[in-house]
Amino acid sequence: MKNDDKNGANGSAYKLTLANNQSYAKLLSNNRSWVDKQVEQDPEFFKTLAKGQSPEILWIGCADSRVPANEVTGTKPGEVFVHRNIANVCVHTDMNMLSVLDYAVNVLKVKHVIVAGHYGCGGVAAALSNKQFGLIDNWLRHIKDVYRLHSHELDRITDQEQKVNRLVELNVTEQAYNLCKTTIIQNAWKERDDLFVHGWIIDIATGLIKDLGVSANNSNQLGYVYELSPAETH
Ligand SMILES: [Zn+2]
Repeated sequence: MKNDDKNGANGSAYKLTLANNQSYAKLLSNNRSWVDKQVEQDPEFFKTLAKGQSPEILWIGCADSRVPANEVTGTKPGEVFVHRNIANVCVHTDMNMLSVLDYAVNVLKVKHVIVAGHYGCGGVAAALSNKQFGLIDNWLRHIKDVYRLHSHELDRITDQEQKVNRLVELNVTEQAYNLCKTTIIQNAWKERDDLFVHGWIIDIATGLIKDLGVSANNSNQLGYVYELSPAETH
């Protein structure tokens, strides 16, 4: 079975390679240390976690490695339900996002849905350019649409960094608005008044979160065309 060994089919070859790969091996050793620390602080920590989750927060953030939901909010495992994608875009045809939203709102009964963008977002900066990046250009098109909606304001900003950061803010606001337009949020609002949608920005340079003040917990600001009547039952 020499050939198997050479190809790593029995596992030994690739395990050896990975053990020598520092960035990979570090993850597993860090995990051991983290588990030890948690158990030291609370011997029941993992037993409690294993029983289930009841987070009150749904976080929809950017996939950027610098904006991890739990770390920036000082929350523990079990406290935040998380969905992340490039540039925290919320599209009503995205089954992945809709499934997360539906489960969070209707099963977990979260009280706060937070769209969290961040200054210096590479996805937003890419959307501002005319360069092709590949498949991602189709995803970033949604942000170009946000630009078009606010071009009267954005075209007047000459500093590129400021322009990106303002589009980051406008993008978060639009994506939060997109969530409010979904049947999931609108139907939930008809049944409960403790569900909020928020828009936040993380300033990576300071670590601080800025609340954009666009929070909503009813359909009043949606606009006539988006507001849906209760679904008819037959
Ligand atoms: Zn980003």
